[in-house]
Order: sequence, then C-alpha cells, then structure tokens
Amino acid sequence: MNAIVSAPARAETHIPRDAKLEAYARTTVFDRPTLIIDTDLVREQYRGLKAGLGDAMLHYAVKANPHPKVIETLVAEGCHFDAASRGEIELVLEQGAKPEAVSFGNTIKRGADIKWAFENGISLFAADSEEELHKLAANAPAAQVYIRLLVGSTEADWPLSRKFGCAPDYALPLMDLAVRLGLRPVGISFHVGSQTRHPEMWRGTLDSVAEVWHAARKAGFMLSLLNIGGGFPAFYGEDIPTPAAYAAGVLAEVAERFGDVPRIMAEPGRGLVAEAGMIAAEVLLVSRKSEADLVRWVYLDIGKFSGLAETMDEAIRYQFITERDDEEQGACILAGPSCDSADVLYEKRMVYLPMGLRAGDKFIIRATGAYTSTYSSVGFNGFPPLDVVAI
Ligand SMILES: *Cc1c(COP(=O)(O)O)cnc(C)c1O
Repeated sequence: MNAIVSAPARAETHIPRDAKLEAYARTTVFDRPTLIIDTDLVREQYRGLKAGLGDAMLHYAVKANPHPKVIETLVAEGCHFDAASRGEIELVLEQGAKPEAVSFGNTIKRGADIKWAFENGISLFAADSEEELHKLAANAPAAQVYIRLLVGSTEADWPLSRKFGCAPDYALPLMDLAVRLGLRPVGISFHVGSQTRHPEMWRGTLDSVAEVWHAARKAGFMLSLLNIGGGFPAFYGEDIPTPAAYAAGVLAEVAERFGDVPRIMAEPGRGLVAEAGMIAAEVLLVSRKSEADLVRWVYLDIGKFSGLAETMDEAIRYQFITERDDEEQGACILAGPSCDSADVLYEKRMVYLPMGLRAGDKFIIRATGAYTSTYSSVGFNGFPPLDVVAI
C-alpha cells in the first residue's frame, strides 16, 4: 500500500462518542463498580454497521451484553439475534424478538434445549460435528443447519481457539450426513477472531472459507447462507475504521471471493456494544514494594473476576480516565482486589497513571460495554458482581 491509497481510509477513522457516558461516570456516586450503558450508542453502532452491511442480516451475539435494555433497543431497530443457550433465547423472546429472527449458534447444545427451541419456533442451528447433527435430527427434525468451519490463521487481538468448527475437508461429509438425517444444510459459518481491527485482516480466513463454499456448491449442496460471524472491532486506542466503513470493507472482501450469496448474516458482539459502556470503578490502594521502588502497584475495586476477564494475557487494553489526568504520570502495575494472585490486569506492559493517584479516587474504564458484566463472577471473595445501569 502506498500513501495515496491509505490517505482516504484515515478520513474514515472512527472516533468514539462517549462524552455523555463520561459525564455520567464522573458526576455520579456509586457504591460499587458499575457498568453504565448508553443505549443511544448501541443504536448508533447498529445503524453504522447496518449501513455498511447492506442486505446482510445482523444477528447480535447476545453473550457480549445481555442487558434487557440493550436487547430491547436492538429489537426496536429490527436486529436479529445469535443465542447460545435456552436462557439467551428466552431473554430475547421476552424482549420481543420473533423466533424467526433468532439463530441457535452454539455448536455445543443440550438435546432438551434444541427440542425446546424448535418447539418455540427457532429453526436455524449451528453444528460442527456428527453427534451434534444427530442431536439436531432427533430434536429439530428437518431444521436448517449451517456447518461451522475451523479457521486457522487469525490477526485478531482476541483470537478464538481450536475449540469451535470442523476442519475444512470435514465440512462436506458433515453436510452429507445432515442430508441423510433429514436436516437441511443451508450454509456455512466461521468466526474470524474477536477484535479484528481492519477488513484486510479477514482475507486469509475468507480465502479458506470460500474454497469450502465453492466445493460444496460444486458437490451439489444448495447453499444459500453465509454466516460471517463476529470480529467487528471496538476502539481501545488503536485506529479502526468507522462501523460503516469497516462493514462495507468486509462485505467487499466477501463479494470478491463468494460472488452473489443469497443470504449473508453477521454476528457482531463487541462491535455493537463495547463503546456503549463505561465502568465507574475506584482505586482501593496505591503501594510500592520497597521505598526505592519506582513502579507503583494500583489496586482497583474491580479485577479479572469481577468484569475485566479480557485482560487475560493482557489481550484487550482498556483506556482509563481519572480526575488527575492533567498531572505527571508514571509506570504502574494494575491489579484487581481479589485474593487470587492471577488477578493482575496489566504488568508485562505497564500502564501510565497520575503520580498523585490515591485510594478513593474514581477510576473510569472506557469501552467496557462488551464481555464485562457476563464475565463477572457472582461473588468471589464476597465482592459483588458488576452492577449495570442503562442511561
Ligand atoms: C461470541 C460470538 C460472536 C461475537 O463475536 P465478536 O467478536 O464479539 O463480534 C459471534 N458469533 C459467535 C458464534 C460467537 O460465539
């Protein structure tokens, strides 16, 4: 790429609009760590992604943030849902989603839950194994199924493991089995890896998925559905395109390799809700290991077990706001409050925080609307789970 090509892309760089969240977090008194959700921002992100995705259907990955107000906002926008369990399906149906708008996308389902979902009008399921297809045939006869592919190379900040998907050369045998079992194999799915910051990073994955897609069609499977999964990024400090530009970029990469696909669905989680949330937390202790130590340890009232699980391996790097951000800053190790030594958030790459930071200071964490409240334990060491308020 040369400078001329990359220049226009810069103009499309995404700028978070979290001023209202920040004002609320700064001026409100909380008695425990609290996630504040601005549903206007969820709506704005949805509209941005939708604009870029054209006719593709958005199925929000409910696990990213299942707060009823988030679901309600998305139902009102006409969004569809990707659910992983009976509990998530019940939640979205309660908030007004139609069963036809819900896919049961987990490849590891309980037979009784498949049956319940099918009886309640859910007709689109994921599978990546023989046994799961047998479960589907027994509990959801003649249902539509898409086969999830294991994808190898990823450039995501939060890559997924080998846990999900079948090897590319196993997809056709599974489609064959689905047909023999009376199911309707309608398509394939994959997940490029969470927080994939640029559309170009999808290329390797799309190349390998397209090979399977074309081979399946050549073999006579009437595939109509391509499920491109999640991976849509949020702003954590590194440049990303606007939601519309990003989505359009991914769709262009898809069109180049797949041609005309009757039905495309995307399953954004993080990209829809991360920037719509901000956590208001508090500093519990600032200490040094010795008098001469230059590095401070900053302990918060929130940690890995109360909402910040994505700091695992320091993968997701959150941005912070304190009331002393105009002061001189120094290197800190940031840790949670629990009595588990694994509850250290950032140590390998330290964070720079104001020299005057002290116990009792408010500590605001940006872009925390995704994968925080769901990851919060129910009461490790007696710390309450992350509270959530929608504004
Ligand atoms: C979690 C999940 C998603 C959402 O991923 P993001 O990277 O947050 O967009 C999408 N699809 C499936 C099947 C998932 O499990």
